Amino acid sequence: MYYYSFMSSRMKELVDPFQLVERQAVIEDVYAVSDLERVRAAVFDTGGEFKVRLAFHRDAARHGVIVGHLTGTVTLQCQRCLEAMALDLDIRPQLGLCTSEAEAERLPDELEPLIVGDAPLNIREVVEDEILLALPIVARHARACGQVAAADPEGPADEDTRRPFRDLRKMLDEGE
Ligand SMILES: [Zn+2]
Repeated sequence: MYYYSFMSSRMKELVDPFQLVERQAVIEDVYAVSDLERVRAAVFDTGGEFKVRLAFHRDAARHGVIVGHLTGTVTLQCQRCLEAMALDLDIRPQLGLCTSEAEAERLPDELEPLIVGDAPLNIREVVEDEILLALPIVARHARACGQVAAADPEGPADEDTRRPFRDLRKMLDEGE
């Protein structure tokens, strides 16, 4: 049974995008970062998942369009302090389907060309591409990196929160 469901979910990812445009189909799925091979190779920690919605339609100029919405969090490595850094992504691509480079060049600027040939379109690859394009070239904590160190229990933290029972010995001694 597991094998069957695995197969069917893999098959579902290979689609004919033009057919989906005619049907005005909407694909909604959730992808674990650990299942996105190329994203996994680019992040510091492979936890987390992405919610993905892809809506297919034909616009007023007759272009086949995929309006996407991908949300999720990736963990990158801050290039300043080398600690983990969570980055929330909210990606809203507008992809214009084309069958050739020439057609891609004629697309309006607001559409990002997605060239598809005779082979089916692999939805997982589209999801990977969009996440990779949204990653910063150099990841750095937005604010001071030291904030991470302050949360470290071994750091120069507040004695009262670190050792709530430090007076216990004294209290016991006084009780005798
Ligand atoms: Zn940092």
